[in-house]
Amino acid sequence: MLSVEVLTLFPRMIAAPLEESILGKAREKGLLRVQVTDIRDFADGKHRVTDDVPYGGGAGMVMKPEPLVAAIEAARRRQPEARVILLSPQGARFEQGKAHQLAQGGALILICGRYEGVDDRVLRWVDEELSLGDFVLTGGEVAALAVIDAMARLVPGVLGNELSVQDESFSGEGLLEGPQYTRPPEFRGLRVPEILLSGDHKKIARWRQEQAVARTRERRPDLLTRQKA
Ligand code: SAM
Repeated sequence: MLSVEVLTLFPRMIAAPLEESILGKAREKGLLRVQVTDIRDFADGKHRVTDDVPYGGGAGMVMKPEPLVAAIEAARRRQPEARVILLSPQGARFEQGKAHQLAQGGALILICGRYEGVDDRVLRWVDEELSLGDFVLTGGEVAALAVIDAMARLVPGVLGNELSVQDESFSGEGLLEGPQYTRPPEFRGLRVPEILLSGDHKKIARWRQEQAVARTRERRPDLLTRQKA
């Protein structure tokens, strides 16, 4: 069971994707629990302001520390063991290995930044910053969903076939998965490689391994270097 608290200013951005398909079923089965909290609920005053202008000037607004830290503390009271993660383009790159590690931990609090980001003092309440990659999103919600999705499918029982997570890209030997085909055997003159139709499972396994290495060498040679290191 994976338990995730999401702190956001836009709760509706999180809700819908979690109702669909595999994640929706995982929640129905009780394998994934996601609690979404509106950070604005922790802001004071009539206008419940959650952002302010940056000290020292500059463009945009910065998320104020008071409501955000109050929201983190409330989530921590519900999940005392949870790891607190801020989604941020300045964080360590989120990768499959990290998804495995976090999924095993069982509980997470994900903080979604907005505007120019969060007041830096909030980092005192954060265990780790994670980035989806070297690009800037408008907010952390899409990143939080990506992290939840990648982790949830690693929880035993979430996917129909547990083997799918062992053989796929970045898992096992850390290679990309080779090419996949389904019916029909011929489509617009393009034939499925004969070996896949042969029924010889040993040969198929060897071919798949060769294809995985070839594909990784062609598209992501950095993964082969990492494997040797
Ligand atoms: N001013 C920040 C900077 O230059 O580093 C960028 C802030 S961004 C517009 C607003 C929020 O989107 C961030 O606080 C973060 O939560 C989220 N975000 C943006 N890019 C991200 C990425 N690559 N990975 C994870 N979260 C990201």
